[in-house]
Amino acid sequence: MTDTRSRDLITQIVHHPYVPPADFVAPQPPVHKGSTVLFPNVAAMRERRWLDKSSYTYGLHGTPTTYQLEERLCALEGGLQCLLVPSGLSALTTVSLALLNAGDEVLVPDNAYGPNKDFTEIELKRLGIAHAFYDAMNLADLEAKITPATKLVWLEAPGSVSMEFPDLAALVRLCRERGVKTVLDNTWGAGLAFRPFDLLADGGSLGVDITAHALTKYPSGGGDVLMGSIITRDANLHMRIKLTHMRLGIGIGANDAELLLRSLPSVGLRYQAHDVAARDLARWLGQQPAVVQVLHPALEEAPGHVHWKALCGAAHGGQGAAAGLFSVVIDPKYGQDAVDRFCDSLQLFKLGYSWGGPISLVVPYDIERMRSQPHAQLKTGTVVRFSIGLEQVDDLRADLAQALSQAFA
Ligand SMILES: *Cc1c(COP(=O)(O)O)cnc(C)c1O
Repeated sequence: MTDTRSRDLITQIVHHPYVPPADFVAPQPPVHKGSTVLFPNVAAMRERRWLDKSSYTYGLHGTPTTYQLEERLCALEGGLQCLLVPSGLSALTTVSLALLNAGDEVLVPDNAYGPNKDFTEIELKRLGIAHAFYDAMNLADLEAKITPATKLVWLEAPGSVSMEFPDLAALVRLCRERGVKTVLDNTWGAGLAFRPFDLLADGGSLGVDITAHALTKYPSGGGDVLMGSIITRDANLHMRIKLTHMRLGIGIGANDAELLLRSLPSVGLRYQAHDVAARDLARWLGQQPAVVQVLHPALEEAPGHVHWKALCGAAHGGQGAAAGLFSVVIDPKYGQDAVDRFCDSLQLFKLGYSWGGPISLVVPYDIERMRSQPHAQLKTGTVVRFSIGLEQVDDLRADLAQALSQAFA
């Protein structure tokens, strides 16, 4: 035996023999860090398998911390396998890159999250992958656009900014019949509003093939972490995406995983609190003279409300579940200047992208520039989107009231 104390001081620090006792148990899972993972001998190094998550080989291929987060996210969304990526957008792009080849075609809802449309139109096109945008509120439009080259159909419920809620089960059933894989951007539902892998209330088997989720939003809940997940129920499909994910060199930081593990237990409470406050304020805004339309899927007059009710209506003792996000259309008699003045006059609502955190946010949108097709369900006027945070709802109402009177008096 070498006397380790005869070694240089620095070597003693680097190779310190002390190992703490193993039985430390605490409510939060420990944070394991490592690019390098150590093996006891060459045989173990050659034998270790990371693909089935039975052991560890390299930080990029998983740690106890990322494995735990993956399993919890599977439980949240009702899937069986999970991959973690460094943003919601990279969840979307990794799925498309993994499953599409030159000559294939992908269909994306015209009201999808804008950067997913940009990735499809610019990057996938560069790789020889064709696309079409379809109207998710019109089953016949999707049906007409599926061709033998169609290999993947993107879904989003509700649509981005305009918040139309599609008949998700009907869209998925059609894709199933045509043998086309479906992937849902599940950021709005977050695993809480509906079960994307079990879309039928009667327990029948119908679900999307893949969910992609911007954990940046509700699971993080702090406005301080960027992360995404890709969840499946089919081991082969998971493996296809996992191998692309591995070859692309995509990984997440242990400290970000720690923040997610810390926030996840409260996601249900936060989601419901955002939802209750958002519905209250959406209804109130609908009574204000400057507002010509409120776009919130839980409100009866909103586009696709019946589909929202069918899919999400049973949650919370029949109240349904609907996140903290909605938009309003401002009367077109008020110009962009007045709408900008309204947004600038808000004090508690801050100007900023993303959602799901404690601070309420507002963004004015130019919806005409975001759509390639006419959108019959939207009234004319400037669209303003709100993300409701965790402030007291009466304070938010008072803030909206003072900004409305400053801008639209
Ligand atoms: C925010 C968002 C994304 C992207 O998430 P990032 O983490 O910001 O990249 C994707 N889809 C939807 C619906 C989103 O709201």
